[in-house]
Amino acid sequence: MSSASRPGFPALTIGCVTLADALAARWLLRADEEHVFVLGRPIEWVCALRSRFGLPCPTCGLSRSVVMSLHGEFARAWQMAPVGPVAVIGLVAFAIAMLALAWLQWASQSVPQGVDAARWEAGARVWIRKGAAIYAVGALVVWLGGWAVSFQAAMPLGGPVAGQVKPASFNRRLPPEGRALEAARDKAGRGPGNGPPAR
Ligand SMILES: [Zn+2]
Repeated sequence: MSSASRPGFPALTIGCVTLADALAARWLLRADEEHVFVLGRPIEWVCALRSRFGLPCPTCGLSRSVVMSLHGEFARAWQMAPVGPVAVIGLVAFAIAMLALAWLQWASQSVPQGVDAARWEAGARVWIRKGAAIYAVGALVVWLGGWAVSFQAAMPLGGPVAGQVKPASFNRRLPPEGRALEAARDKAGRGPGNGPPAR
């Protein structure tokens, strides 16, 4: 019997590859509130929506949140984008479910009293399918809900685009050196409220 046709082999492969990918990503990537780092080098992403209008797009903060979650920093990741920890926990749960399924498939074929294992395997398939459907809906709600919250938080209260269109009184309140700093920042395209143009 070739290894590919051994019972449980495909599920075992999927489970192991998923876990290996997660561990590789954890080793390669780090993140703080501003950037994702690949082997210590920051990635400079520019989000068009955020850099132009100061508003987050649905994927803003997503990669930073996922990378933080891979390092177990779930609370920090939740602050960044709630869907990040949900995605990473879902991925690990999926890998564990695949390994469990692989074991049941192997046991139902290979153990003399394999009848029970076969029944468990059929049940496991149903639960994995149901769990995946419930998870997908929940993750979508968390993703769009988290985006709505950060979008709301970034929305200017007084005008269409705060940070871009400043009230005339804004500069008068700053001392001269503050004004120069402000002008330099505007030139660099990083006004306050504009946020880092990272993804
Ligand atoms: Zn974005």
